[in-house]
Amino acid sequence: MLSGQRNVARVIASSSHCDLPGHDTSSQNPKNNMAGICSAGHCCCRANPYLAIMETPTPPLDELIACPHCDALYHVGTIKKGERAKCERCHAKLIAPRKAAGAHIIALALASVVLVVAALFLPFIGISRLGFSNQATILEIAWAFSGGPMLVLSLATLGLIVGLPLMRLLLTLYTLIPLVRDRPPWPGAARAFRLSEQLKPWSMAEIFVIGCAVSLVKLGDLARIELGPAFFMFAVLVVLLVIQDTFMDRWSVWKALEK
Ligand SMILES: [Zn+2]
Repeated sequence: MLSGQRNVARVIASSSHCDLPGHDTSSQNPKNNMAGICSAGHCCCRANPYLAIMETPTPPLDELIACPHCDALYHVGTIKKGERAKCERCHAKLIAPRKAAGAHIIALALASVVLVVAALFLPFIGISRLGFSNQATILEIAWAFSGGPMLVLSLATLGLIVGLPLMRLLLTLYTLIPLVRDRPPWPGAARAFRLSEQLKPWSMAEIFVIGCAVSLVKLGDLARIELGPAFFMFAVLVVLLVIQDTFMDRWSVWKALEK
């Protein structure tokens, strides 16, 4: 289940029913399909056969963590920096606090903000054919489709590849800057971090870069293509976002926000 240290987190044992003394299934929460609490104070499974009995009294909710991929429920113990807690079932990373991770994430987020803003105003692509050449920035490319129904598409594309990544970066900075300085969280920091996590699937800078690379290869047969500095800025941005995600330990951030 874990690498680095045992007993850091403990899976709630598998069973289809609670057979501990004093158990009363009527006290289980019918809305909770994962686990309920019996009258004996044990965490019991209601419908999911993979979740059932904890042999110890139910821990506080803030000591439980669910795997985001397979919903396995774990009781979290003490996890030191440098250790990792993984899901026993699907091996997904659950908790991985790192030393000075917050400062690293802030530095990466600031660098990413600079790259996104600069990439908007620098040439993204240049095309030349038969003596004619032209360069365009991302804003100019989006604005070129501003007439008619394509306006909605160009605004949606611009929002997904620039707006949402930039918004997520600013929300991350808003959440982490006071925590790294050992100050109380700024007002609404928990809501900002939650929104940042919810927007993650819609942030498509990576898909944009890959799509552009494929398209430019195909266009190479028709005209001479020159990649502008904005393209390479987006490529670096994708790498920075991936590194930032590896440093991000959401469990530690939520714990810090709850203090
Ligand atoms: Zn899992």
